Amino acid sequence: MKQTIPRVGFVSLGCPKALVDSERILTQLRTEGYTVAPSYEEADLVVVNTCGFIDSAVEESLDAIGEALAENGKVIVTGCLGAREAEIRDVHPQVLAVTGPHALDEVMRAVHAHLPPRHDPLTDLVPPQGLRLTPRHYAYLKISEGCNHRCTFCIIPSMRGDLVSRPIGEVMQEAENLARAGVKELLVIAQDTSAYGVDLRYRTGFWGGRPIRTRFTELARHLGELGLWIRLHYVYPYPHVDEVIPLMAEGKILPYLDIPFQHASPRILKAMKRPAGGEDVLQRLRHWRSICPDLALRSTFIVGFPGETEEDFLRLLDFLQEAQLDRVGCFTYSPVDGAVANALADPVPEEVKQERLERFMETQAKISAARLEQRVGRELTVLVDDVGAEGARARSYADAPEIDGIVHIARADGLHPGDMVRVTITDSDEHDLYGRPALSLR
Ligand code: SF4
Repeated sequence: MKQTIPRVGFVSLGCPKALVDSERILTQLRTEGYTVAPSYEEADLVVVNTCGFIDSAVEESLDAIGEALAENGKVIVTGCLGAREAEIRDVHPQVLAVTGPHALDEVMRAVHAHLPPRHDPLTDLVPPQGLRLTPRHYAYLKISEGCNHRCTFCIIPSMRGDLVSRPIGEVMQEAENLARAGVKELLVIAQDTSAYGVDLRYRTGFWGGRPIRTRFTELARHLGELGLWIRLHYVYPYPHVDEVIPLMAEGKILPYLDIPFQHASPRILKAMKRPAGGEDVLQRLRHWRSICPDLALRSTFIVGFPGETEEDFLRLLDFLQEAQLDRVGCFTYSPVDGAVANALADPVPEEVKQERLERFMETQAKISAARLEQRVGRELTVLVDDVGAEGARARSYADAPEIDGIVHIARADGLHPGDMVRVTITDSDEHDLYGRPALSLR
C-alpha cells in the first residue's frame, strides 16, 4: 500500500534571523520526505515560528498560534517566543510542543513524534542550497547565533544565549551553494556580525581545501570572492571593522554598513550597555569615508530611553547632523518583559517620547533626502526585485531589501527580477530614487 506523504504547514513570523531558522526547518522537513502544505486544511500539522521581541510581536505570535489551532488543531511552536513556554501554554494549553529559537533538532523531534516521516530518496531530493523564503535572487546568510552583550533593553541573549559562531567552512559552503543556485545578493546577518568567531577564538577552518580563520574580516574577504553583492548587517563600530572598508573601496563587498547605534549620548549608551559605546564614532565614520567615499550607512535609534534628558536628546540630533547617515530607523523606548532597563530610574513620559520621535524623524528626513539627491545624475548598478505594469522596483548598493528605499524604473521592458542593470538616476524624494536604464549587465 502506498504511504501518503506527510504534510506540514508552516507559519514564519519575525526578523530575518527567524526567517533563516524557518528556512533550515523547511529544508530539513523536505530532506526527510515531508511536503509543505499551502493551507491549514491541507496540513497534517502546523509549525509556527514565533517572534517575542516586543509586545506587539508577542501578541501577533499568540494570535498566529490561536489561528493555527482553530484551523488545523495540531500545532508545534518554535522561535523566540518559544523560550517563554509558560506564557504560550497559559493562552494555548493544547499546543503539541514548544521549543525555543534556533532549535532545529528539537522541532524535528516534535514533528517526528506527532507525524512520522516517510522517506523516499528518489522523490524527496532537496537542492544543496536548501529551501528559501526570500525571492530567488537574494538570501540571508546567518553566520552566528546568540550574543555576548547585555544591552539593558534587550532580552535576546536570555532567549538565544551567548554567541555561537558557525564554522567558517560551513558558512562559505552555504554561500557558494546559494551563488550556484542563482542568488545575486547575500545579506550577512547575526546578532553582532562584527563579533563573528570570538567564541571560537578565531579558529582556522577550511573552505575548498584552503585554511581560513573564523573571523569577520576574513569572512568578508572570502565572501567577496564569490562575485555576489555582499551586504553586512548588524555591525558594531569596533576598530577591527576598519579592515573591511578597503574591501568596499575595491568593490569586493558592497559599500554598505548597517550599524545599530541606538543613541549618541555617552550617558545613555552607558545606561544601555551598548557594545562599542565608548568608541569615537564620528571620527571613525570620517576615517571610513576618507577610504570609501561612497559608503552608505544605515542605523537604528531609540529615543525616550529611561533617564534621557533634553540635553541627551539634543546631543543625538547633533550626532545625526554630523554623521549624515543615509538611512535611519527610530523607535520610542518601550519596555520589553524581562529587560533590565525596565527598572531604570526616570522613565520618559509617553508624550515626550512621541515629541522627540517626531523631531528626530524631521531632522533625519532632511538628511536622507539630501543624501539621495546627491545621487541624481549618477549611473548606478541596481538589482531588480520585481517588475509590474508601473515599471520595475530595484535596489542599489545603498538599499537593503525590506528596510531601505528602492530605485523605481519607469521603462522596464525586458527586465526581470534578479537582473542587474545600470540606471541613470533622474530624480529622488525622501525615500526613493527614480531612474532609467543605461546599460544591461545581464
Ligand atoms: S548587541 Fe545588544 S541589542 Fe543586540 S542582540 Fe546583543 S544584547 Fe541585544
